[in-house]
Amino acid sequence: MTGNRATGLRFAVVGAGMAGILAAIKLRERGEVFTVFEKAERIGGTWRENRYPGLTCDVPAHAYTYSFEPYPEWQAYYATGAEIQVYFEKVVDKYGIRPSIRFGAEVTGLVWDDASATWTLTLASGEVQVFDVVIVASGVLHHPRVPDLPGLDRFEGAAFHTARWDDSAPIDGAKVGLIGCGSTGVQIVTAINARVDRLVHFQRSPQWIMPVPYFTYSEEERAAFRADPALIDAIRFSDEYIGNVRRFTDAITDIDGPQMKAIEEYCLLNLENSVKDPVLKEKLRPNYRAACKRLIYSWSYYDAVQQPSVFVETGRIAEIEPHGVRMADGTVHAIDTLVLATGFHADRFIRPAGVTGQNGLTLDAFWARRPTAHYAITLPGFPNLFMLNGPTGPVGNFSLIDIAERQWTYIDQLVDVLRRGEGRAVAVTPAAHAAYEERRIAAAKTTIFGSGCSSWYLDAEGVPASWPWSYDAFDAAMAKPKFEEYAVLGT
Ligand SMILES: Cc1cc2nc3c(=O)[nH]c(=O)nc-3n(C[C@H](O)[C@H](O)[C@H](O)COP(=O)(O)OP(=O)(O)OC[C@H]3O[C@@H](n4cnc5c(N)ncnc54)[C@H](O)[C@@H]3O)c2cc1C
Repeated sequence: MTGNRATGLRFAVVGAGMAGILAAIKLRERGEVFTVFEKAERIGGTWRENRYPGLTCDVPAHAYTYSFEPYPEWQAYYATGAEIQVYFEKVVDKYGIRPSIRFGAEVTGLVWDDASATWTLTLASGEVQVFDVVIVASGVLHHPRVPDLPGLDRFEGAAFHTARWDDSAPIDGAKVGLIGCGSTGVQIVTAINARVDRLVHFQRSPQWIMPVPYFTYSEEERAAFRADPALIDAIRFSDEYIGNVRRFTDAITDIDGPQMKAIEEYCLLNLENSVKDPVLKEKLRPNYRAACKRLIYSWSYYDAVQQPSVFVETGRIAEIEPHGVRMADGTVHAIDTLVLATGFHADRFIRPAGVTGQNGLTLDAFWARRPTAHYAITLPGFPNLFMLNGPTGPVGNFSLIDIAERQWTYIDQLVDVLRRGEGRAVAVTPAAHAAYEERRIAAAKTTIFGSGCSSWYLDAEGVPASWPWSYDAFDAAMAKPKFEEYAVLGT
């Protein structure tokens, strides 16, 4: 590679969810030239795709907002998915980025060329464009995981994944089967138990439930937020939220420490005090440590699951029949509507798009063992490619908006190297990334996520695919990249 490029960088952003919108706003602020490619016809990602009853963000609404765009209009302490979608639509219009988004534009290929220090981006339509920098904001919880249940294709009622909610499917007065007991499954139980004739919740492993407060904001409170945004900051930066995030990450990383003990006691007391029927209580008692799986925050699940309309089925599903679900013990549950709350392939990221970096290195090859990225953002051999919410980033019960904003701070400083004309490309060195991954894996195994349960946090080898250190350590890492870990190419 030869020559410097001080200005005029061309940016591609893949995805117009929360992270891609963030990138677009930040690039516009910097006066950069960019295009956002979104395969769907609307912005919103997660919040566009997930419309199931009860969908609620379990981060307090005022913390699940961009720090630069507080939102006085939230209706309650926790926002619904539909409200969040409205928020992102408003933000996109306010910041004037809609014209920069290409909808119906699925990125299917990215190929790096050392000689020109560019990425050639291919769309599903066959259209090809060339960019200097690519921001991958294609999401984590995006590719639905549909279980391989015998007979599922012969089911004659409505059957669908929660991210593909079928509004025409019978719920009111119907016999509903719900497979899956993560946050989504739990939220659906709370939302539909009063509507159904019968809800059979097929539960492979029960969840620890952290009781949390829920309240709505009055019109007077919203008016006060509008008049004085400092009131919003007081919630967002309160000890209740930021303190909780710190305590939670302390608990995750110091699994025998006081914060984890407090979480365990709180969840156990919630189970003991809330569930009356001893048989149901034992069905709902997890046999792994609290927060090993993503901890479920709920103010109403235990009430909901004790309603007479709900039956928790803990047996093994043998097969799906045309009108029901047959268990291994021979029991058959008649079902009209079968809901699959079975999660996502959390290891796909931008794939199935083909990404080829330096020397023909493909993303599939680089990720053959496990998806990794340096500080969840950059990959050796893939210059000028930056991920938001990439593999091994922080996971847990805190705002991914906050995480993405901090990641942008890190990315922006690496792009500054190009803006200053110090080179045409930046890439983390293989040695720096290997050393980082070694430390990360060793630490990740000691976190609560590695304490012996199965969860979507674990990679194929059972290693938690997450940031394994404290929130403050993440904050510090994002504040300034270690530039010595990067090679500047084309100087
Ligand atoms: C049910 C559910 C509940 C959640 N609850 C919370 C919560 O309580 N708190 C929290 O912090 N997070 C939560 N999350 C995580 C949530 O995904 C993130 O908070 C956030 O929305 C992620 O934004 P994103 O932009 O990174 O990804 P996404 O929202 O997934 O957006 C990615 C976008 O990229 C597009 N795209 C993907 N591939 C391509 C391609 N090849 N070409 C073009 N476009 C592409 C997609 O269509 C999508 O619009 C939840 C997720 C789910 C599924």
